[in-house]
Amino acid sequence: MIDEVVVNRWIQRYLSINYKSLKDDEITVTEAVSPCLRRSYYARTRVQQPTPVEFLKVAGQDIHLALQDILRGEGWDVEVSVALPVNDFVLRGRIDAAKDDVILEFKTTVNIPEDSPYSSHVLQAQAYLAMMHASQAYIIYLSRTNGKVKVYRVHPNKQALKQVVERAKQLHQALKNSKPPNPTRGPWCEHCPHKPTCKR
Ligand code: SF4
Repeated sequence: MIDEVVVNRWIQRYLSINYKSLKDDEITVTEAVSPCLRRSYYARTRVQQPTPVEFLKVAGQDIHLALQDILRGEGWDVEVSVALPVNDFVLRGRIDAAKDDVILEFKTTVNIPEDSPYSSHVLQAQAYLAMMHASQAYIIYLSRTNGKVKVYRVHPNKQALKQVVERAKQLHQALKNSKPPNPTRGPWCEHCPHKPTCKR
């Protein structure tokens, strides 16, 4: 019988095949720029069913893969790994595409922000700019619902990497002490798989 549990298992397998599991001494830029560090902590420490949002991220991977081939053909490096040693851990990132001093970050989403990119995405792009010593970043939103595309240019910000490193340190410390960081509540809680058990 095929039911939701079976389909979720397929998605879970896809996720485990396609996302390398991280070691204790590695924190990713994506984890550090999450609006809620507690969610990043739980994502590492709890087994969870993929949420609809995560499922849509899986669908978004196909768009990324399709575009990667095109970008490679135009001389871009894709899936560029960056790493920055910080005390007793390494801050890691993977940039969607980079060429000369320009980087691209693709975000497939249901709701494209109309006026400005999400602040967590800006912070991520600025951290990558600093780690790559690049000068221009573009966040490219692709709508999964209507095919719309929106591009935002992001400028370097010297404080961004410092901020990301501070957040990464907090998360690393929390993981070391097995103590969840304080929750940061906001609209993102709506799609958080840990909402039912997230108490202060
Ligand atoms: S429910 Fe909200 S505050 Fe709690 S872990 Fe999830 S995102 Fe963070």
